[in-house]
Amino acid sequence: MLSGKVAIVTGASRGIGRETALTLAGYGATVIVNYCGSKDKAEAVVEEIKAAGGNAKAYQGDVSDFDVAKEMITSVKKEFGSIDILVNNAGITKDNLIMRMSEEEFDKVIEVNLKGAFNCMKHVSRIMLKQKSGHIINMSSVSGVMGNAGQVNYCASKAGIIGMTKSLARELGSRGITVNAIAPGFIETEMTDVLPEDVKENLLASIPLKRMGQTKDIAETVAFLASDKAAYITGQTISVDGGMGM
Ligand code: NAD
Repeated sequence: MLSGKVAIVTGASRGIGRETALTLAGYGATVIVNYCGSKDKAEAVVEEIKAAGGNAKAYQGDVSDFDVAKEMITSVKKEFGSIDILVNNAGITKDNLIMRMSEEEFDKVIEVNLKGAFNCMKHVSRIMLKQKSGHIINMSSVSGVMGNAGQVNYCASKAGIIGMTKSLARELGSRGITVNAIAPGFIETEMTDVLPEDVKENLLASIPLKRMGQTKDIAETVAFLASDKAAYITGQTISVDGGMGM
């Protein structure tokens, strides 16, 4: 489904990013496994892809740094010839009620989740415009759609992702480039592992399908949006949340 395509997945050393990298590679894409600090884990993802007969390369880079993002995208284009798929997955949380949230906690989450996606989209857009093709998939969240107490920083970043997705879809559409977002619900990863049991139980009670999502649920949606099967879908936010956000 994706053979011959080159994909960059940010924050791909674990969780949803890791599963997305493995899934896109499974469908034939060459995958750049971006990571910030976890070199060993990123290399393990690359090894797993290669062991299954795929092609991948780890690339260290903090996406919140404008120049680092530019350098990553420029060198991937130079080495692999094209960039067909960009998955802006890297994200962090620094939860706190607003009375206790520091300026630093607000700024850091916006810097990684929102500006990180902007940085990568900004630099990849030039390449995709020249190619007259490409698919950008941004990781939003059900929290960005519904809001969530204790997450004004995170929800602002994830709602911002939806606005950026729609705007860029309008800017790039005439060149055949699609830009979409995914709003995952409550997915089993290290990000959600840290939630207290009572919070998890309350969340589960609010999900019509009565279970947490798996990373594969998100990764397969990314693969669909990155494929020609989704060629006429752009500017959308696809909820993959067991019905939580409806
Ligand atoms: P995770 O914490 O397991 O993984 C996030 C990855 O991003 C990590 O590998 C981390 O190292 C990387 N990262 C963080 N800052 C970075 C930076 N500056 N540059 C490059 N990489 C960086 O989280 P996850 O649960 O796999 O979430 C992945 C994405 O999905 C995030 O954007 C998250 O907000 C979103 N999401 C997750 C859930 C969920 O329930 N797990 C729900 C909705 C949305």
